[in-house]
Amino acid sequence: MLEINKIRQDFPILNRQVNGKPLVYFDNAATSQTPQQVIDVIVDYYSNYNANIHRGVHTLSQEATDKYEAARKTIQNHFNAKYAYEIILTSGTTHSINLIASGFASLLNEKDELLVSALEHHSNIVPWQMLCEKTGATLKVIPMTNEGELDMQAYTNLLSKSTKLVFVNHISNALGTINPIETIIEKAHQVGAAVLIDGAQACPHIKPDVQALDVDFYVTSAHKMCGPTGVGMLYGKEEWLKKLPPYQGGGEMIDQVTFEKTTYAGLPHKFEAGTPNICGGIAFGAAIDYMNTIDFNNIANYEHKLLEYGTKRLLEIEGLKIYGTSKNKTSVISFNLDGIHPYDVGTLLDKMGIAVRTGHHCTQPIMDFYKIPGTVRASFAFYNTKEEIDALVTAVKKAKMMLS
Ligand SMILES: *Cc1c(COP(=O)(O)O)cnc(C)c1O
Repeated sequence: MLEINKIRQDFPILNRQVNGKPLVYFDNAATSQTPQQVIDVIVDYYSNYNANIHRGVHTLSQEATDKYEAARKTIQNHFNAKYAYEIILTSGTTHSINLIASGFASLLNEKDELLVSALEHHSNIVPWQMLCEKTGATLKVIPMTNEGELDMQAYTNLLSKSTKLVFVNHISNALGTINPIETIIEKAHQVGAAVLIDGAQACPHIKPDVQALDVDFYVTSAHKMCGPTGVGMLYGKEEWLKKLPPYQGGGEMIDQVTFEKTTYAGLPHKFEAGTPNICGGIAFGAAIDYMNTIDFNNIANYEHKLLEYGTKRLLEIEGLKIYGTSKNKTSVISFNLDGIHPYDVGTLLDKMGIAVRTGHHCTQPIMDFYKIPGTVRASFAFYNTKEEIDALVTAVKKAKMMLS
């Protein structure tokens, strides 16, 4: 059971007002809010041990290095990676995907095929298109159904010996669909293809086990799971991380540098050129610790109740249509009001203190599939309440009256 009132006290921002109304924050799929426990870690870093890591003999540098590497361990344990050096700290999901896409440039040719799902965020589409341009490889699309699920029969048919890589999100940010990644990974491995899972939208809701999944790459961002922006991670199986060339050149990622030849550092530093987001990495670890004290089973159960309640209440409104109706969904409700532009709804909701996302959610292909310009997306976190959903329903009804 969640002690919701106690949890809400952890998030100072939830006390503020917007346009004279209490804030109802339903844009969690874009970024989550930050608990005091994580804010304290950030303040502590800059107040007490701000220093560059890995290269100083002085006390502050050693303290910062220890905390940064402890955070890597926390992330390793959370995702159940076999080795801490399989966790590469990046600036986020987008950076992680670009790192892998860039690494595969030297491993692909024009006979190779890559499979992307129709449900992807632009950051899991565009880097692969750029890779295909560079290598001549072909990008094929796993189609989606009207419910917002992947067509698994079509997926099976698309797989062949030419398939080198499959990339799919664990959970769709636009529709909330939980994809059957266990099956996707197993089938890809049967033809010898590697799999990258974009976990940006999954990690706020579930705790993935990368070894049980047997996934090759798993990527996520801290800011969707109570951490700060500008930091995230890439999990890669050791064998893959050894095989791929470095992404960026610079300090920290080298072993020896001369003008004739440079040799690279071992994992994870080979992929971590330059001074990283040190404070962010440490705060990422703190965010994971925080979420584990709430407990991911509690989070999933509670959010599922919010999803069921929100779906039922919103569907009471005549002319409201929900996009993404899979039985396997997290707490994301994408909807439109008949004949009304989502942007207009979002603007009026903001006037009533309610933060939702409107637009294509960086998933234009999904919007094209439904032939709509975008949706209004309300996405719930474990610190939201049924009362806030009631406020949303009242506000949507009011918006509908004003706009029709
Ligand atoms: C948010 C999100 C991304 C992009 O994450 P960044 O932190 O902006 O790099 C990618 N994929 C999914 C599914 C997302 O929800």
